[in-house]
Amino acid sequence: MVQDGMEEVRVCPRCSRAHPVEVEICQACGEPMTTVSRVIGRQGRPNPPRWLKQARSQAAEIKAREAQASDARMERFREMERQRLVALAEASARQARKDRRLLLVTGGVLAVLILTLCITALYVFLQG
Ligand SMILES: [Zn+2]
Repeated sequence: MVQDGMEEVRVCPRCSRAHPVEVEICQACGEPMTTVSRVIGRQGRPNPPRWLKQARSQAAEIKAREAQASDARMERFREMERQRLVALAEASARQARKDRRLLLVTGGVLAVLILTLCITALYVFLQG
């Protein structure tokens, strides 16, 4: 027990937080403040202190949440990648169609040109 002005306080042996003397268990870390409650607490509490269990379960929860968020991010990324590949394939197919059309047109123009040349040559030959 420590004298603090007019009020008696008890200082937690674990976290050094000061509490009113009537407090039996530290409100910050759950450590029993008196020898009696310490002994009772030790006997009736084989598990780690409440704050530790809370911290552990919170850590596990945060980890699970982060894993979930990471999974969601990966899923979004994979979906975006899939859409990108589909768009790429479609663009490539469109380009192929365009190329074929261009080839057809070019071939047609060339054929007409050659035909015109032949007719002109024949005409010149017949005239001459
Ligand atoms: Zn404490």
